[in-house]
This record gives sequence, structure tokens and C-alpha cells, in this order.
Amino acid sequence: MERDAESGQVSFSLFGSGVSAGVAIGYAHLVSSARLEVVHYTIEPDRIEAEVARFDQAVARVETELTRIAANASAVAEMAAFINMHRMILSDSQLSQAPRDIIRARRCNAEWALVEQTEHLAAQFDALDDVYMRERKADVQQVAERIVKALTGTARALEGPSHEENVIVVAHDLSPADMILFKQHQFAGFVTDIGGVTSHTAIVARSLNLPAIVGLHHARHMIRENELLVIDGSEGILIVNPDRQVLAEYQLKQDAYQLERQKLKRIRLTPSATIDGTPIELMANIELPDDMDAVLESGATGIGLFRSEFLFLNRNDLPDEEEQFAAYRRVAESMQGQPVVVRTLDLGADKTVNGAERSGPNPALGLRAIRFCLAEPQMFVTQLRAILRASHYGNVRLLLPMVAHAHEIDHALVLVARARAMLDQEGLPYDKSIQIGAMVEVPAAALSLPMLIKRLDFLSIGTNDLIQYTLAIDRTDDTVAHLYDPLHPAVLHLVANTIRIGARAGVPVSVCGEMAGETRLTRLLLGMGLRQFSVHPAHLLEVKQQVLRTDLGEAKSGAARVLRASDPDRIAHLVDRLNA
Ligand code: PEP
Ligand code: MG
Repeated sequence: MERDAESGQVSFSLFGSGVSAGVAIGYAHLVSSARLEVVHYTIEPDRIEAEVARFDQAVARVETELTRIAANASAVAEMAAFINMHRMILSDSQLSQAPRDIIRARRCNAEWALVEQTEHLAAQFDALDDVYMRERKADVQQVAERIVKALTGTARALEGPSHEENVIVVAHDLSPADMILFKQHQFAGFVTDIGGVTSHTAIVARSLNLPAIVGLHHARHMIRENELLVIDGSEGILIVNPDRQVLAEYQLKQDAYQLERQKLKRIRLTPSATIDGTPIELMANIELPDDMDAVLESGATGIGLFRSEFLFLNRNDLPDEEEQFAAYRRVAESMQGQPVVVRTLDLGADKTVNGAERSGPNPALGLRAIRFCLAEPQMFVTQLRAILRASHYGNVRLLLPMVAHAHEIDHALVLVARARAMLDQEGLPYDKSIQIGAMVEVPAAALSLPMLIKRLDFLSIGTNDLIQYTLAIDRTDDTVAHLYDPLHPAVLHLVANTIRIGARAGVPVSVCGEMAGETRLTRLLLGMGLRQFSVHPAHLLEVKQQVLRTDLGEAKSGAARVLRASDPDRIAHLVDRLNA
């Protein structure tokens, strides 16, 4: 730590995992992850009953809101049960009455009284032996959050100060749903205390092309509002209150980075092929139809992964068939006949619909993705109908996430057939030969490919989850982030085998996980035989540049050498040599 002689401010650096390259310079805006953090003020004696009434009105508003959500969620049994539980919690006097007594006794504002009571209840839950009951604490907190929102009239505050482009968001944690809200803002970058580099939070940051760092541990506590910050996203360094010289250095670095990106635009229309002319397909990953501008600008030749579940975040209801159809159709039409791979809902784990935030004791291993869809056939069929209908307007393909067993594919195909029969009966058009593929992101799928592949038209390797599940590393947990290793031999062999088996069977294979967008790995993947990449639009041109400079023969022998190695240092060295 150093004190700057001129400003008197303390300058220091924090180190974490850079998730998105580039340099951001801006002022800190602290965003609370404690959703219940609220203001505290005293109420004049003659205003106390009015404050109690304000609290009652907020409770009534939440009751109306939950009743509406329950009505919309009735098709999804689990969600309906969950919302009903929240209604019960809301009507319990511990939450709806006790804060009134606190307002009167302590003459405090309603938000404060509610938080006091919620914390009191949370402590009681923590003391319980019964795990199930202990877990109800989160439900009580979620209901309290709704009341706070109703009181303050604000959703979770990501609204920052006015000059957003000069603002760096500092948070303890941000959810993928929060990150989607960033798309409506122009913040300079963000940093968080926790999170892994392939968490969906980080993935969205990368797609926004915002310099970002996760896993800084104590940033939220050490940084004060409006302090000047520099993010070096490539190195994972955050500098707080940089002195003039450091600031000038980073301004230069920022200019150089932006110039580099600008130059890359020159190859936007250059056909993507290796030096010997082998064509390589470069497609884009998107979260929402609004990402299409970036896709078209990147020169992508298709959408390799549309993470459709993002349509379901940041809302209290579920998008119905018409809304989904409109979203998929818009993307399909924008791509004008180029492929659009819509991945069916990958909800669960770190992406949950508002109001249904429970996904079991170990969400990444729980009712996620295809498992969730098969457990909620009505919701799934609604999505399948929407995708099928959109297929009439472009080259739409359907991708099943997190498949581990052949029977999951069979079950999903039965539901696809049901959706098709319904559309046939209603006379609604769709692409009768729509291609159906599966993600290879669970080791079980990679290891039993011959059984799965017969049922499928294409495969897409989700390396983010494949690494998570192969190495038993929670991708959202920064405490094990250092063990998350795309170059682990087990991962490399699973990826290489999948590409090989796909090629042998004549089934196209793409990689849509973050490995596909890491230019350090482009040649390795090409050498393994990969011919289709799907990456964030913001990174597509960097990958293309690497493709254009690749000698496929050298990549092939280099990849074979990497696959024969077992020592991590040796593997890293061979990968570097491949890129030299
Ligand atoms: C993956 O797991 O690699 C993938 C592309 O899917 P997601 O990151 O959405 O889980
Ligand atoms: Mg995945």
C-alpha cells in the first residue's frame, strides 16, 4: 500500500481472476449483494401509524404479486408449490406482523424493521438441526426481499450514477440475472469478490466485452464509493487509487488494446479458413435476441449456441409460447438462412427463474437443464413448440443440454414428436427435417458417445461444464478456480475423442464452451480436428485471426504431442510451442 503524495489517498492492488480482457478506468460504484441492505431513519411519533400502514401496503402488494405468479406458474408443479410456500411465509405473523411492533417500539422506518425481524428469524433458522428447515431461511429472506422491493419501489439496484461509462461496478457477487441487466447499461467494467472464470456471470461479462475480474475476495469491503479504479482484465489486477504514473501507463495500455480490436475489424468479411484453405466455421453464442447486432457485426456464420434460458431470467413469470416464438423467430430471420442452434432450457444451477430459486442441495448436480425440462414436460413442450414454429423462418436447430443418458434423448424426442403432432394438427408450419443435437458436457455423454450419436444430427461440446464435471470443480466457486484446468489430460482426451468419434460417424461436432473462444487453444482444437467453433461475438475475430494464421499440418502434429503428454508444465509448454 502506498499513499499518494498529491491526493493523500491510499493506493493498493488486488489480485483475482481476469474473466474478460482489456483495461477499464473508472470510479467505483458499490453494489450490495446483501439484497436486504436498506436505509435506516427515525420516524416522528405522529408518523408512526402511517409508517405501519406503508408496511401493510407493501405486504398487500407482495400478496397480489405472488397470487399472480402462482396463477401463471400453475403449469409447473414445482414452481407453483414453491410460490405457495412463499405465500404461506408472507402470511405468517412473524413476517407480516412482527415488523409493525418494531416500527412502533423503535420508531424506525419499515424497511429497517423488516430487516431486523428477518435477521432475527434467520438466526433462529441457523440454530435448527433439521437441514430441510434450515434451508427455509433462504425462502424467508426471499419473501422479505420482495417486501423491501415493494417498500422502496425499486428492483435490485444496478442503476448507477449518471455517467455510467466512467463507472466500475464493485460487488461481492453478481448473478447471471444481474449480469443480463448490465446489457442495458454502459458500465466500464465490473469486479466481484467471488465467482469462477467460467461461471455464467463471467460468461456474460465476456460477451459484453467488459473488462472484469472475479475472485478478488475483499474488494467490496476495501473499496469506497467513487474511488478511482483500474481493471487490468487480462492480468486479473485491480488497482485502487492509482498514482499519476500508473494511470498514464494504463491509459496507454487501454488505447493499444482498443486499437488492436479496431484493426481486427478488417478481417470481418475474410472467409474463415486455415492457411491450406480448410474452411472453419465460426459461429456466435448469444443470450438474448438483442445480442444480434453484435453477431452481425462480428461476421459470424451462424448462431452456435442460443442460451434460451436467459429469456426466463429477471422476471416473475414465464415467457409464454408466443413470446418465445417471437424471440427465436427474430434470431432465425436475422441470420437469413444461416444456422441458429437454440439450446433448450438450461435452468437450474446458477440460473433460476425468479421466485423458484431452490434447485436442491447441490444445484450443479441437481434438477438442471434436460433433467428439469423432462420433469416439467408442459413447460418443455411449450418451448419445443416455439422453437419448431420459429424453424419455419430460418435454419433453426435444436440442442439438448446436459445429456448424460441415451434415455434422456429418447424421452426428449418423444416430447418433440408430441409438439410436432400438435402443430400438425393445428396446421402450423415448421421445418419437418429440423436437426436435433445434444451437448457433450457431462463425462458420461463423452464416454458413451456411440450410444448417443445414433440418435442425433450433431454434437456440441460444452467445455465449461465438461471441465466442471470431469474435474469435480464447481465452476462458480473461486476457492477451487485454480484447479479448473482446460488443459487437464482427462479434459483434452474427452474433447479429442468426441471430435474424432463425431468425424468418424459423419456427425458434425462444434465446441461452444469458453475453450472455443480462447485463442491460446484455437490451434490445439484445430489440430484435434475441430472445424466448428461457437464463441462470443466479441471474441470471434480474435479466433478468426488465429485460424487464418494456422498451418493445419503443424496443428495436427502439435495436438498429437499435447495429447501424449501428462505433465502439466510439459502440456503448457507444448501448447505455447503450438502457438509460437
Ligand atoms: C458449457 O457448459 O460449456 C456451455 C456452453 O454451456 P453453459 O456455459 O451455458 O453451461
Ligand atoms: Mg453447459
